[in-house]
Amino acid sequence: MANSENDTIAAISTPVGEGGISIIRISGDDAIPVAQKIYKGKNLAKVPTHTINYGHIIDPDTKEEVDEVMVSVMRAPKTYTCEDVVEINCHGGLLATNRILQLVLSYGARMAEPGEFTKRAFLNGRIDLSQSEAVMDLIRAKTDKSMKVALNQLDGDLSRLIRHLRKDILNVLAQVEVNIDYPEYDAVEEMTTKMLKEKAVDIQQRIQALLKTAKQGKVLREGLATAIIGRPNVGKSSLLNSLLHEDKAIVTNVAGTTRDVIEEYVNVNGVPLKLIDTAGIRHTEDTVEKIGVERSKKALDAADLVLLLIDSSAPLTAEDRELLTATKDKKRIVILNKTDLPQKVDLAELKRLIGGAPLVETSIVKHEGMDQLGQKISHMFFNEGIESGQNTVMVTNARHIGLLHQANDALNDVLKGINDGMPVDLVQIDMTRCWDLLGEITGDSYQDELLDQLFSQFCLGK
Ligand code: GDP
Ligand code: ZN
Repeated sequence: MANSENDTIAAISTPVGEGGISIIRISGDDAIPVAQKIYKGKNLAKVPTHTINYGHIIDPDTKEEVDEVMVSVMRAPKTYTCEDVVEINCHGGLLATNRILQLVLSYGARMAEPGEFTKRAFLNGRIDLSQSEAVMDLIRAKTDKSMKVALNQLDGDLSRLIRHLRKDILNVLAQVEVNIDYPEYDAVEEMTTKMLKEKAVDIQQRIQALLKTAKQGKVLREGLATAIIGRPNVGKSSLLNSLLHEDKAIVTNVAGTTRDVIEEYVNVNGVPLKLIDTAGIRHTEDTVEKIGVERSKKALDAADLVLLLIDSSAPLTAEDRELLTATKDKKRIVILNKTDLPQKVDLAELKRLIGGAPLVETSIVKHEGMDQLGQKISHMFFNEGIESGQNTVMVTNARHIGLLHQANDALNDVLKGINDGMPVDLVQIDMTRCWDLLGEITGDSYQDELLDQLFSQFCLGK
């Protein structure tokens, strides 16, 4: 039987491993009753929403105490899924975590499918289609071959644009055909050549823009590796928390094929950021971990985008300068934080040091400047095309990208032919080749069905 969208679902939403804290997340109408059945502590049905409650997990069969836990109760609709959500924070390692999950599953929840929390967020109107697609892509890209459908959906957009290109090329070819019926007129030949050239340039630009889109598609699937760095106390954890707690924030647990991994994603103005080394900048309950410059530098290597924080309320330090230097060849956004305090930083000097990099002023504690930060990030991504330097391109895309490159080459031949004064009917051959190559991309396109398929995927709880 297909799983229902109304079931109460559960999964471990942190990396499974020894030690540390694990979280079992439960979502659905029965989330609170299910948790209550195996919990000894306050009456969860009565505690206020968005509270964390201390207690114990008890196996109701044996009355045995399984683990000491903190249980978060979050009632609909202000939760990630828009449903009642309970998170059981336990610290008993792999065995206890699994045991609690088993208890949750035997007392009324079923195992969540990969991405199902996000799917529910979408179905319940918490996030829009493009956001959930990005998340689904992210999840499936790492877990599930059937993400091909989602991929195809991205490619569906590509197909639409390509069909448009092909139509334009066909128009040019038809025009050329008509014109070379009158070869005796030099003026016509000249006009034809001029038109061909203009069109070739235009189409080439559009193909190159598409090649960039393909890269963005990859980032949308995989997330833009983002490092939050800065010297101790500058506000890294505050920024992380603010990003994660934004309404737009998407935190997913990604079930890997061999083991569970958690990566934190936030969706900032449509750009999914994969936050690097967030473990290092999280404050645990009783230790305030201060992250040194060395650790920041490590996170840098893996980053496609760097968010570098500078304290506005203090003069630049040696550490600031070191990080400014270390990031100078990276795509970076400099965040001047703590602008609610009297300014002590030398702004002119800072501006000199960061060169052309965008500078955003924030007071994270007062929630000021976060919108501007979001805008800067999406602007960088969509307008300047930050490229993800990690992972290899997916096979489907590699084929398309290859064809686009070949089509681009064919247009180079068109332009070269024109410049070398080749006869129009020879130039036409290269233009036709371009048209054929693009056709290989759209050859088997059926994107109307794709959207249906995508939705049926969502609805079946696949
Ligand atoms: P981290 O060490 O870089 O992770 O810095 P934290 O995020 O832990 O912040 C260090 C301290 O600075 C905390 O007490 C924060 O509340 C405070 N802080 C962070 N952002 C701001 C801000 O915009 N203004 C002010 N006044 N304090 C801030
Ligand atoms: Zn911190």
